[in-house]
Amino acid sequence: MIIGNGVAGTTAAETIRKGDATARIILIGDEPHPLYNRVALPKVLKGITAPERTFIKTVAWHAENNVELLLNTTVVRIDPERQLIETDTHGEFIYDRLLVATGGTPNLLNVDGAQDTRGIYHFQTLDDTTTILGRIRKSKHAIVTGGSFIAYELTEGFRHHGVRTTWMIRGTRFLHRILDAEGGAFVDKLAKAVGVETVYGDEITGVNAGEDGEITSVNCKSGATIDCDLLGAGLGLRMRTECLRDTGVKVNRGIVTNEFLETSVPNIYAAGDVAEFFDVSIGTHNQMGTWNNAGSHGKTAGANMLGARQEYREVPYYTSTMFDSQMAAIGIMPESVPTMEALGRMNEERGVYRRLFFHEGRLAGAALIGDIRIRRQLMDMIRSQRQVSNAEREQLLSV
Ligand SMILES: Cc1cc2nc3c(=O)[nH]c(=O)nc-3n(C[C@H](O)[C@H](O)[C@H](O)COP(=O)(O)OP(=O)(O)OC[C@H]3O[C@@H](n4cnc5c(N)ncnc54)[C@H](O)[C@@H]3O)c2cc1C
Repeated sequence: MIIGNGVAGTTAAETIRKGDATARIILIGDEPHPLYNRVALPKVLKGITAPERTFIKTVAWHAENNVELLLNTTVVRIDPERQLIETDTHGEFIYDRLLVATGGTPNLLNVDGAQDTRGIYHFQTLDDTTTILGRIRKSKHAIVTGGSFIAYELTEGFRHHGVRTTWMIRGTRFLHRILDAEGGAFVDKLAKAVGVETVYGDEITGVNAGEDGEITSVNCKSGATIDCDLLGAGLGLRMRTECLRDTGVKVNRGIVTNEFLETSVPNIYAAGDVAEFFDVSIGTHNQMGTWNNAGSHGKTAGANMLGARQEYREVPYYTSTMFDSQMAAIGIMPESVPTMEALGRMNEERGVYRRLFFHEGRLAGAALIGDIRIRRQLMDMIRSQRQVSNAEREQLLSV
């Protein structure tokens, strides 16, 4: 039984089917679609990729592989004693092994007027994307709130369509835990170079609508009022752990697992964005919101549900455009391990920024902007788990 048909859940189903031709596999998702590529959604938002090109699996694939796919179906309760799950539309099912791969849902913009005003969007699903795309085409001035990757993608999507775009970040810079002041200033320069207006240290406290209920402006903490006809919010994710209520499964920010992706309750596993897994490469728990991490988790969880004892061992990475430049985040980020030592370097002339994170003398993560070709070398070094000398650090930082 697998809850969530994103890349983690669907990869687990595929892995189980490859390892066992006859096991009954039920894959449940509350969206109306089979697996699609979430990473491609920014390109759909820009109008570069057609929505139907994002599909990775068809409904027919599931039937051909004897995977029972239930779409538009939410798992509302799990009873670990009876090894049973309850859905909203298809009744109850008994399981031998259960995987929770439910991902996250966007934190909503919770300010005065937001609930009743149209023109405010969050960006997580294919359906969100097509809805926003329809709206962008009618918009002239957009505001984006948030300092996350999703806020960047919204900003970039809006300005790509020629909409005047103001990007408002509550903190001092984009990704304030990952980039230092120099990295933040570089992203600001990249944003301004393509015409994006940036605002830092301010936040939206209320939204105003016209008589038709459409957004007309936002009120800010600073006292400013900014006119807009479109508002995008990229305020981080809340993990979808509600179906685990009263199960005894340990949940912190995500579902806590060991290195085998087993939760604290027998026969229940977790994978993907929602899993706060024991990361053997740093000897502590870690949580990653990246596509390759979720897919690799799916493989490991699927194998372990069939009885293997595979440790999860991967270096996650995230690459993205950064306006007219590009960015990569590799390995562990300071959000997971705030005590890491960080060393940053910027080459203004070449437009290259590099920040490295060390955990107990070993390279554990990196943020790169501009030239990101060193990515593979850094991933190998993270994998090796060896001590990195001062001379090597200097060399890695020579931008
Ligand atoms: C716009 C956007 C751009 C991104 N760009 C990148 C990128 O460039 N690089 C990168 O590495 N990552 C990127 N990501 C992140 C990446 O897409 C995720 O890390 C990955 O998709 C997570 O996969 P998952 O299977 O863990 O969860 P999800 O893809 O979130 O799938 C979980 C599914 O479970 C469903 N579900 C939840 N609860 C229930 C329930 N109770 N019952 C039934 N179904 C349920 C959810 O609706 C969802 O369909 C991006 C994400 C977004 C939104």
